Amino acid sequence: MRILIIEDDPVLADGLTRSLRQSDYAIDCVSDGSEADHVLLAQNYDLVILDLGLPKLDGFEVLRRLRRRGSKTPVLILTARDALDERVKGLDLGADDYLTKPFDLPELEARVRALIRRGQSGGSSVLHHGVLSLDTVGRRAMLNDAPVELSARELGVLEVLMLRSGRVVNKEQLAEQLYGWEEEVGANAIEVYVHRLRRKLEPAGVVIRTIRGLGYLLEKAPNV
Ligand code: CA
Repeated sequence: MRILIIEDDPVLADGLTRSLRQSDYAIDCVSDGSEADHVLLAQNYDLVILDLGLPKLDGFEVLRRLRRRGSKTPVLILTARDALDERVKGLDLGADDYLTKPFDLPELEARVRALIRRGQSGGSSVLHHGVLSLDTVGRRAMLNDAPVELSARELGVLEVLMLRSGRVVNKEQLAEQLYGWEEEVGANAIEVYVHRLRRKLEPAGVVIRTIRGLGYLLEKAPNV
């Protein structure tokens, strides 16, 4: 899951980035509204965390432009404690939730999980694929109701494949979901994760096919 943080206070931006990376989100960070607008034109995110007081273009304008383009990406705005009018205006412009500064990181993370869940699966946090299920909030997978040991990256790859099951997903799309800009993606990293997933899932009949030159495909589950 990939998150864009738009925040001009470097200390807060750094704290948010560290904390969310620890929860295995891919994080990109920009510090002014104009750059944010450009990035949002070029890249899809699962969530945007948006400060309102920003240089060049304020957060309201970034949000207004995003929604005018028809984007439904969940947006969490960060507002000052006593600024009721800011919160109302932000929600009216299409923000999905807000947090008042200063806030506790566990609360932010809970809001982030809730918004991503809402955006991804229309309310339910559990993806199903035949005998396989994946809890996108609890971050765990089950095969025939028994837990499967998966690393955070393996879970990330599996989540993307399950969200697009029956369709081909290429390596670039997988890497995009798993890594932020600053992280190096080893050329074979995705292949390694897929290889490990196969070893764990194929005995139960869950098949990830390689489509040569195109990418990977999680085959339609038989009994669904
Ligand atoms: Ca600010």
